[in-house]
Amino acid sequence: MSKTWRPATKLVHEGTLRSPYGETSEAIFLTQGFVYESSASAEARFKGETDGFIYARYGSPTNDMFEKRMIALEGAEDARATASGMAAVAAAILCQVKAGDHIVAARALFGSCRYIVETLAPKYGVECTLVDGRDITNWEAAVRPNTKVFFLESPTNPTLEVVDIAAVAALANQIGVKVVVDNVFATPLFQKPLELGAHIVVYSATKHIDGQGRCLGGIVLSDKQWIDENLHDYFRHTGPAMSPFNAWTLLKGLETLPLRVKQQTENAAKIADFLADQTKVAKVIYPGRKDHPQADIIAKQMTGGSTLVCFELKGGKEAAFALQDALKVVRISNNLGDAKSLITHPATTTHKNLSEEGRAEAGITGGTLRLSCGIEDAEDLIDDLSQAIAKIGG
Ligand SMILES: *Cc1c(COP(=O)(O)O)cnc(C)c1O
Repeated sequence: MSKTWRPATKLVHEGTLRSPYGETSEAIFLTQGFVYESSASAEARFKGETDGFIYARYGSPTNDMFEKRMIALEGAEDARATASGMAAVAAAILCQVKAGDHIVAARALFGSCRYIVETLAPKYGVECTLVDGRDITNWEAAVRPNTKVFFLESPTNPTLEVVDIAAVAALANQIGVKVVVDNVFATPLFQKPLELGAHIVVYSATKHIDGQGRCLGGIVLSDKQWIDENLHDYFRHTGPAMSPFNAWTLLKGLETLPLRVKQQTENAAKIADFLADQTKVAKVIYPGRKDHPQADIIAKQMTGGSTLVCFELKGGKEAAFALQDALKVVRISNNLGDAKSLITHPATTTHKNLSEEGRAEAGITGGTLRLSCGIEDAEDLIDDLSQAIAKIGG
């Protein structure tokens, strides 16, 4: 395939592996195993002397197409598709640490990601320090001689804070630490962590990559050497492989990713401006607005705004619940990146397990709402929000 293709072209054509039937759409290879021409060809395959698949837990044709398309989009050298975003995050982190190692992570993380570094890793003797990732001096201060991994998400869930990826990567490269970036909120279209100096990128493909609420998926992308030395064996033997059916669904998702994300981002930008003008809204956080507290870093590392808008109502939890309940087009759901607009009250759902103090640190109050904008007509979404806001106090 052509290296000079622009992303939208790669997302339709890259990685396609046609069977002898010459099908237009990618085929779903729902097979667990593969047969060999002869004993000698089985032996050669197992020795790695010939290319080809061995067992679907290791790799399979539809998954291979999905991985190749993602590799081309991300500018990585290799990848492994996983059954969910969390399988990708767990694999990316756990495959490269051992007892006695230390992880530094930005504390504003997706809840399950925080569990991996804060609760799971320490059970196996891997210590973790959580920092406010917005300030590079916090990363510097947390480094120990045994630090092996930096882990961050940017923009963060739900308050859309950002971390200066190039600055964190520069520090990591000075001291030989690997940087893992969860790039879900930015999407592979708007932010390229590998170009900014990070080493490993993970996605929940469940979000924008599927984008139509159908299946779970994830992927870990990096350079070939890191995958060979760290992820390859871990992936084969712990079994987080993606279902080929889901790989097929996600390949179809990738074809329309730029169209959907463009529409979703345009909608989000209009909605953010609309919300900023409402007297019942205390504040709006949107990476595409000039009043984002870290607009300078966003301008440096992102090429688009966001499909998400975070806002806070003056009327607190009561107003937030009333607004959600009055909406007719926008649905209440903790998912994001979907073609359908979805709204979440983080304090009582996705972030309910944080302590009151933890929520305050993360900037989440009773009045905070996270809106994932879909591909509907922006005017219908604004009409819906407008009629709902009219019904609330504050
Ligand atoms: C959803 C999400 C995950 C987990 O992905 P699943 O596919 O649900 O396992 C990890 N990180 C971020 C930022 C997410 O939004």
